[in-house]
Amino acid sequence: MTASRYYHITTFGCQMNKADSERMAGILEDMGFAYSEDPNEADLVLYNTCTIRDNAEQKVYSYLGRQAKRKHEKADLTLIVAGCVAQQEGEQLLRRVPELDLVMGPQHANRLQDLLEEVFAGNQVVATEPIHIMEDITKPRRESCVTAWVNVIYGCNERCSYCVVPNVRGVEQSRTPESIRAEMEELGRQGYKEVTLLGQNIDAYGRDLPGVTETGRHLHTLTDLLYYIHDIPGIDRIRFATSHPRYFTERLIRACKELPKVCEHFHIPFQSGDNEILKAMKRGYTREKYRQIIDKIREYMPDASMSADAIVGFPGKPTNNSRIL
Ligand code: SF4
Repeated sequence: MTASRYYHITTFGCQMNKADSERMAGILEDMGFAYSEDPNEADLVLYNTCTIRDNAEQKVYSYLGRQAKRKHEKADLTLIVAGCVAQQEGEQLLRRVPELDLVMGPQHANRLQDLLEEVFAGNQVVATEPIHIMEDITKPRRESCVTAWVNVIYGCNERCSYCVVPNVRGVEQSRTPESIRAEMEELGRQGYKEVTLLGQNIDAYGRDLPGVTETGRHLHTLTDLLYYIHDIPGIDRIRFATSHPRYFTERLIRACKELPKVCEHFHIPFQSGDNEILKAMKRGYTREKYRQIIDKIREYMPDASMSADAIVGFPGKPTNNSRIL
């Protein structure tokens, strides 16, 4: 049976946005929409936006302008802005683009069907209030049939001075180990071989979940999660991103060494090699601490691969003791 309505999603930004778009696509297909490669053939157009990179924001407005014009010829066109620009701009987006039907923040991605029912009832909807993120029951429309993104923690409680993420993605919300395991078991049954566990600050996983050990450590940590999901049939490789040097532990390094499915690749942004700049960034670690982490990883896994992010041109003069890490 041919679908009667078509949707198109354009995604900007990070893996978290890509994972959100896959889930929103799954919700739309559950509602009977089919995917249209060409946005100009779609009855519903959704832009999942990023606010970190300026040109991404400008691009959204130019795309929206074209679709807003199209809406004057096609009144039943549904126009949606999701993601971090939606969260940051909220109502203002409706003033700037009155043709919009729905403005929804990242925390509302799993509620797309409920929000669309309000839109199809004739309302213009803005959903940016902080909420507890609903566990996702929809089958994401994943881009790959071999590798899959699995969210483990949403949001971020850090306050790095250059970063807008905590304001647009909200406070940390960890998924339960059981729900993550259930999603990965399903992926294993579907033939997926590799999973990347996602979190803005993945080392914070579990600190908002109840329970502490006798030694007072959080019961649920990323390390515990890796042990808990390691034996899932069908999944051969497990990766995780993005790490934070402030919370990176030797316990985690040891687990990566011991667990054969965990890939020996670490993405640990250092952002700057200067302690004064790191303080101004409110990153919460020093160059020496970062160096120790790298040395410890090398001690356990000499062939491990590393990647990182660095910010060039952060305001403020680096002191003369900054040097390459
Ligand atoms: S940890 Fe990452 S996401 Fe969180 S505030 Fe810092 S840079 Fe932003």
